[in-house]
Amino acid sequence: MSLRVFKSTISRSLRSQGISAFVSVPRSPRTSLGGGRFQTIDGRCQWMLSLLMPQGGVNAPICHGAGRQHKTISDQVRKVEYVDANGTHQTISDPGLLKAAAGCFGLLGIVTHLTLELQPMSYPVMRPEKPDINLAIPPLTPEDVPPALKGDFTPEQFAEATKRFQERVENDYYSEFFWFPFQQKAWVHCWNPVDDQEGAKEYPPTVEVWLQWIQGWLGGVIIETKFFRAIPGSWQAVFLATLTMAALPPQFLGTRDAEIKTFMPDALHFRRGVQNMRCRDMEFQIPIPSRKDDPSKPDWTIVQRAWWDVINLVYTNPESPMRLALELRIIADSDMIMAAQRGNKHGTASIEVLSIPDAVSDGDWQPFLQQIADKWMSYEKIYGQKLNVRPHWAKEWEGLDLGGIPARKYLKTVAYKDEIPEFRDTLKKIGDAQGWGLKDIKKLFSNELWDELVFDTVQI
Ligand SMILES: Cc1cc2nc3c(=O)[nH]c(=O)nc-3n(C[C@H](O)[C@H](O)[C@H](O)COP(=O)(O)OP(=O)(O)OC[C@H]3O[C@@H](n4cnc5c(N)ncnc54)[C@H](O)[C@@H]3O)c2cc1C
Repeated sequence: MSLRVFKSTISRSLRSQGISAFVSVPRSPRTSLGGGRFQTIDGRCQWMLSLLMPQGGVNAPICHGAGRQHKTISDQVRKVEYVDANGTHQTISDPGLLKAAAGCFGLLGIVTHLTLELQPMSYPVMRPEKPDINLAIPPLTPEDVPPALKGDFTPEQFAEATKRFQERVENDYYSEFFWFPFQQKAWVHCWNPVDDQEGAKEYPPTVEVWLQWIQGWLGGVIIETKFFRAIPGSWQAVFLATLTMAALPPQFLGTRDAEIKTFMPDALHFRRGVQNMRCRDMEFQIPIPSRKDDPSKPDWTIVQRAWWDVINLVYTNPESPMRLALELRIIADSDMIMAAQRGNKHGTASIEVLSIPDAVSDGDWQPFLQQIADKWMSYEKIYGQKLNVRPHWAKEWEGLDLGGIPARKYLKTVAYKDEIPEFRDTLKKIGDAQGWGLKDIKKLFSNELWDELVFDTVQI
């Protein structure tokens, strides 16, 4: 069954039973899913969805969605079924062991089923906006705004926008922000669901789904043409940004409603076909620090800082290699041992820069990523507290220096110094109970990255 057909079937099935998933199901075109069943557990009538995921690529590297209440997809896993190094089908449902097993990068074995805990169906009311960039995530001071983006806003407008931004990131069920290079406007997608189904519609409507797929396909074709590659980088960026902003709601074509009330799965997958566009992507998870005046509260200024640091960097180079987008999502922490969000008690700013693979060379992209990584990792001194900033495992970080040392060394000796031994010990505990050893999984399921990070002490 194709992913699209599966998602549509499962959405209908979920709706008819009044439930929805609040975490993403895999979006990769290479991911196929099959089968699904619902269960109650422990008589508590929690709805479970068991997915056969021949490529459990979204769960393995601990992927995430958006919203400060939401941990990673791996945090929702209640049972992992897998084929171990001996070829035996095994099950793990102990919560302590799942902290390693549900986000283990494929090191346990071949995952055949994941059982996820879902929330009851609810109905997001989406009002996407395209505010001036100055007011979407306001700068800490007006001086932080590059001259090309300066607006004529009063201190009161900045204060009002800052309050609104803080409310959104702190409380909204789902919060994400986009900026496309050299654009005066941002795209803000923050929403909350309601329990009342009245007025909820399929989104996007069928025609628009096809339109979105075509747009995605066309985008892919255009960026691979000789003409596109030959035009200056700034033109490429502006061309893509203009098309993307035009395609995002509220828009001239397609859904014109300022307010879209829909079903939870539709809101989470409001944009179809985007996964067909190849991209380059570096994403970091920045912990939200505590406020100095009241450590029990989050200090959201770090988000403003991280956001405007990128925008300013883009403006230092008219041919900036960031040709697609700056994206920011607010998410929770994670209980997974190897999650980049682990320990972030106030939540996490999940921030990323994206570009196009064909028109941007490694020689341009890598130094840009290094500059961004240096910025995002420099905030500890400003906030005067430990901030364990870590890259998304499934995105680009290899080849960078983090904290002044090669990324792998940094991850092993600094960012996951305590977590890696805990992860290895938990895997060992699972193996002891299920009849395999660390050397078996190193031999069969590891690669040179995990040999270096996790299994360096394990002799085959
Ligand atoms: C357009 C786009 C949007 C994205 N959006 C997000 C996002 O919103 N949030 C986010 O966190 N990430 C996001 N990502 C990253 C994406 O979720 C990861 O790259 C994910 O790993 C992709 O899954 P895959 O199946 O294609 O990966 P693969 O490369 O096939 O798999 C990743 C790893 O998972 C393991 N694995 C896969 N299947 C199994 C199995 N059956 N058993 C055991 N191990 C297995 C393997 O170790 C493999 O190396 C996005 C990526 C793209 C391209």
